[in-house]
Amino acid sequence: MGYVQGLKCRECGREYPVAPVYVCEFCFGPLEVVYDYEGIKKILTKEKIFSRPQNLWRYKELLPIDGEPTSGLYSGFTPLVRADKLAKIIGVKNLYIKDDTVTHPTLSFKDRVVAVALSKAREFGFDTVACASTGNLAHSVSAHGAAGGFKRFIFIPASLERSKIIASLAYEPNLIAVDGNYDEVNRLCSEVANKYRWAFVNINIRPFYAEGSKTQGYEIVEQLGWKAPDAVVVPSASGSLLTKIWKSFKEMKQIGLIDELNTKVFSAQATGCSPIVAAIKQGVDVIKPVKPDTIAKSLAIGNPADGYYATQVVKESGGFGEDVSDQEIIDAIKLLARAEGIFAETAGGVTLASAIKLIKEGYIKENSLTVLCITGNGLKTKEAIVGHTVEPYYIQPNLRSFEETLKKINEK
Ligand SMILES: *Cc1c(COP(=O)(O)O)cnc(C)c1O
Ligand SMILES: [Zn+2]
Repeated sequence: MGYVQGLKCRECGREYPVAPVYVCEFCFGPLEVVYDYEGIKKILTKEKIFSRPQNLWRYKELLPIDGEPTSGLYSGFTPLVRADKLAKIIGVKNLYIKDDTVTHPTLSFKDRVVAVALSKAREFGFDTVACASTGNLAHSVSAHGAAGGFKRFIFIPASLERSKIIASLAYEPNLIAVDGNYDEVNRLCSEVANKYRWAFVNINIRPFYAEGSKTQGYEIVEQLGWKAPDAVVVPSASGSLLTKIWKSFKEMKQIGLIDELNTKVFSAQATGCSPIVAAIKQGVDVIKPVKPDTIAKSLAIGNPADGYYATQVVKESGGFGEDVSDQEIIDAIKLLARAEGIFAETAGGVTLASAIKLIKEGYIKENSLTVLCITGNGLKTKEAIVGHTVEPYYIQPNLRSFEETLKKINEK
């Protein structure tokens, strides 16, 4: 039933059959899934999509599996929230939040990529799944892997937020906390992946895994009434999500689900780890790796695998990039919560704070239909705002004590 034709090197174009491989043997370029879009165009109509359950598999012909999905059957189709109050504050007229803080089951957009990766891992016959993670992927592979009955090896930097580590441990994976940063964890995992026959979702399964990110883009278009936005702001770690949102919009045009595509794609990073945005701002194609130092740990990849491709998407679409300080991240997390009732993790703070700058600088226009990709839940990184919130009012258990406090509150 699948519409996948094979894998293709993004650099030299050499083609490969579908297999758990991720780099070109000839030029070491990354491999990308190729589809039969003519075939998909005939079958994947708006009516067909509309008739299906509200999860990411409603676009399954555009995802790289051959049979029926076996993982993430309830993931995706998160709300696209119209954000009028926030819009007014930050100076735009037509603003939406793609709210992946409520993705099933682990409250970040990583449930999308893991749903696809584990469905594919099962088709390949793997019994063990693994990942190198900045936090959310660990959480998601732990959960989907548990539900799917896989053995799980989860590699993380030992310095991750305590709440994220605990969230992963709840599912009892083999959690390997490495004394090193993400880039070191990733390097180690490449060695492990060469030696053991495991499905490393973001290494040997990466071409398939990454395709799951496209579902965020499909949903944005469907939820806007089959229209691509004028501007989309995407938090970037490896740069994969950003490239895949662009790919999803292009595919929707190619198969006739939208007529026009004029979206500008914007990358958002923390200043303490902004190799992609730095390249965009300097107008260069070469990504200079950095040592991450930011509270936005989920985005702390100093040597981003898809960084180059992200800069190309930004260029091709006419977008730009911005980076923000830890304080700006915290302020933006609080602003989003106060204005729209959405509590995002640090990556969400990065996205909103970057968007505010891009609007001020005129890269995003007041009238642009703008979507902010808010990709993870604030309950996962509570540490980030400890000491930066308002305090509770402590009272005695009697009415007098309460009313004394109420008086003070009203006098404020
Ligand atoms: C992983 C992640 C991203 C983006 O990751 P890419 O590697 O750029 O695809 C964005 N937000 C959150 C919360 C994440 O966990
Ligand atoms: Zn190649």
